[in-house]
Amino acid sequence: MSIFSNVQTAPPIEVFALTRAYNADQNPKKVNLGVGAYRTDEGKPWVLPVVRKLEAQLAADETLNHEYLPVLGLDAFSKAAVHMLLGTDCPAVIDNRALGVQSLSGTGALFVGAKFLQKILGYDTYYYSAPTWGNHKLIFDTAGFKQGRAYRYWDPATKNIDFEGMCEDLRNAPENSVIILHACAHNPTGCDPTDAQWKQIAEIMRERKLFPFFDSAYQGFASGDLDKDARTVRYFAKEGFELFCSQSFSKNFGLYNERTGNLTVVMKDAELAAAVLSQLTLVVRATYSNPPAHGARVVAATLTNKDLFAEWQDHIRVMSSRIIQMREALRDRLVKLGTPGTWDHITRQIGMFSFTGLTPQQCEYLGNEHHIYLLRSGRANMAGLNTNNIDYVASAIHDAVTK
Ligand code: PLP
Repeated sequence: MSIFSNVQTAPPIEVFALTRAYNADQNPKKVNLGVGAYRTDEGKPWVLPVVRKLEAQLAADETLNHEYLPVLGLDAFSKAAVHMLLGTDCPAVIDNRALGVQSLSGTGALFVGAKFLQKILGYDTYYYSAPTWGNHKLIFDTAGFKQGRAYRYWDPATKNIDFEGMCEDLRNAPENSVIILHACAHNPTGCDPTDAQWKQIAEIMRERKLFPFFDSAYQGFASGDLDKDARTVRYFAKEGFELFCSQSFSKNFGLYNERTGNLTVVMKDAELAAAVLSQLTLVVRATYSNPPAHGARVVAATLTNKDLFAEWQDHIRVMSSRIIQMREALRDRLVKLGTPGTWDHITRQIGMFSFTGLTPQQCEYLGNEHHIYLLRSGRANMAGLNTNNIDYVASAIHDAVTK
């Protein structure tokens, strides 16, 4: 008998299963609204021109080699990432109380941060929004947290945030719980608290001694404005919170498979930085030893050069405005078709996804009958829409809702 014979098959990861189903589908009308990646109006992945240009330069640069990076990554990259997140006028940056650790994209930053909190600080309870990005629970559970609890977030009746419920759940959280907060463009709902609501959330968190772990996967990608999308993390940092923030450069740089990310740590006292970094070093050393260089070189070069930075800002505006246009196009078509229900939430929501409000049955029907693939939760990637498929998708949704 094999030592593996009692291994239970783990459940499939829905978003990747959906992509497999989409790839296997031979119908020319098929549409993938599942996977969280940007597509052009031609339905193609987009290598940002500034990335292409830098890649050509890096390939020709004979001073570069494939030696290991330091355990905590490329210094120029993590510094630039911290500055991009917090702004150079942030008191924590000025006082050297903000540190960056290069990570295996946003996922790696979440894992390294979670492992540090569990192992070094002994935290054992984390809270996530209901619903949240599918990987949060897996990451925190794998990092050894004993308790994962949901705080209320989405109210299906109003298709908006259940803010009262959220506050009540945070007020009832035990001290020293880690609270996962989406920095902007909440995935999957596309609904962010207002600035006034964030202020209230901060007050509760301060009072209840809750630790904010921001997840920033869409800075610049959400509104097209880097500062706007970072304002909540900056607000918490200015308010004196100690916090973690995972940063992903997958979406805003289109560097999905280069695993380019950063864990930003904001602390109260610059003198504690060395000890914290030494422990983070051991977490990384045990996990993957040191990070890859390619994406970090591209991002560092872009963020530290005025012209390249301006070029990149244009790219993120192109992506975010195309998504906003597709939201409007979908909402307008559904309204015009007279599809039962209200559809304003599609344009109220922000970021890559719309939480459409479609039921699991309707989502399955769209896949089976119309070759349109989206998560059973009703989350649809707005970047999967384009001028060629928007009418088809709108009438398919109309059919799913009215059948
Ligand atoms: N956090 C959220 C909310 C996300 O949506 C994603 C990607 O979809 C990530 C983190 C991490 O992605 P990556 O590991 O590619 O940076």
